[in-house]
Amino acid sequence: MKDWQKTLSQTVNQVPPSGIRRFFDVAAKMEDVITLGIGEPDFVTPWHIRESCVYGLEKGYTSYSSNKGMLPLRQEISNLYKREYKIEYDPETEIIVTVGVSEAVDLAMRAVLDPGDEVLIPEPCYVSYKSCVILAGGTAVPVPTGIDNEFRVTAADLEKYVTPKTKVLLIGYPNNPTGTVLTKTEMEGLAAFAKKHDLIVMSDEIYGDLTYGGLEHICFSTLPDMKDRTIVFNGFSKAYAMTGWRLGYALANPVFIEAMNKIHQYTMLCAPITAQLAGIEALQNGEVNMKKMVQEYDRRRHLIYEGFCRMGLETFEPKGAFYIFPKISSTGLSSEEFVEQLLQREHVAVIPGNAFGASGEGFIRCSYATSIDKIAAALKRIENFLQHI
Ligand code: PLP
Repeated sequence: MKDWQKTLSQTVNQVPPSGIRRFFDVAAKMEDVITLGIGEPDFVTPWHIRESCVYGLEKGYTSYSSNKGMLPLRQEISNLYKREYKIEYDPETEIIVTVGVSEAVDLAMRAVLDPGDEVLIPEPCYVSYKSCVILAGGTAVPVPTGIDNEFRVTAADLEKYVTPKTKVLLIGYPNNPTGTVLTKTEMEGLAAFAKKHDLIVMSDEIYGDLTYGGLEHICFSTLPDMKDRTIVFNGFSKAYAMTGWRLGYALANPVFIEAMNKIHQYTMLCAPITAQLAGIEALQNGEVNMKKMVQEYDRRRHLIYEGFCRMGLETFEPKGAFYIFPKISSTGLSSEEFVEQLLQREHVAVIPGNAFGASGEGFIRCSYATSIDKIAAALKRIENFLQHI
């Protein structure tokens, strides 16, 4: 029988396997599992947003939109950035609507990378980043960060990894998996670094609306001289509880947007029109509901942070997104051993930190995008687990 594995491209073979799926597969077969594993809101998309989609279908909106997305949606995105961040993006030339932030990252990488070009990625990081770089023919260069400064990457860290081949710096704050948010001064340090080495910055701001304790999100492109060299990614999945709608966008200079659209027009053609209609409603009328969800995440954040502190695990207070990243190496177990044993013994699913890169080893990622009751019950089980190691 022919070995089909051997027919696969070398590129696809370089893509690392998911460090998450294995645990979900096991958890799916078990009963009574509480999962803190999933990076997905537990809320259903607010009704007024769903209704706008139903209304659009009734009206017969079932066709393709323009490749870059419906102009009214791009206009709303432009209005949002003007309102929230005081920055102008031309809806005709500087915005592209994509199939989630996932597609936007993929398009951006393919638009700018040639074989051998290097992309600096602070680690631990969101699981898709390295794969997108590899699939675009580039080389992902992880830059380790640590808990001593709450996983904040600095220009000094990045300087150690920059080479003449470095073309892109890819950052994501508020961060998945750590919940870290950078201060303006820290971001300015990264901006100066990008300018010094003439890098393109890709800034994944999908958790930009999910910040706590009065912190205001700073959009990277609003830093002095950064608009032109920055591609900002954002979307609807997290803030509006719209993961399944597959809707995101990128903001960048017209050359980058045109290049991304060149790929998008032959691959996706456009984001689903029903999702785009819902996106317009979300941006026009979704703020109140979104803020309520953020308030609820904040309550859960306090509960989970206090829970891990009580257990004596080293952790820091996450300031954004909906993840916490406690250190578990004091148990003597590796991340994977900890996750496997916690699942088997206490039926709690979390993600091993090393799924987000080597510097996540010794940590676990817990999502608090689940109910207060479930978080409280999971914390009790984890505490019990720790007492019996
Ligand atoms: N970027 C980050 C940092 C994420 O955590 C996720 C999803 O977990 C995505 C992008 C994917 O977003 P989307 O659903 O818009 O494709």
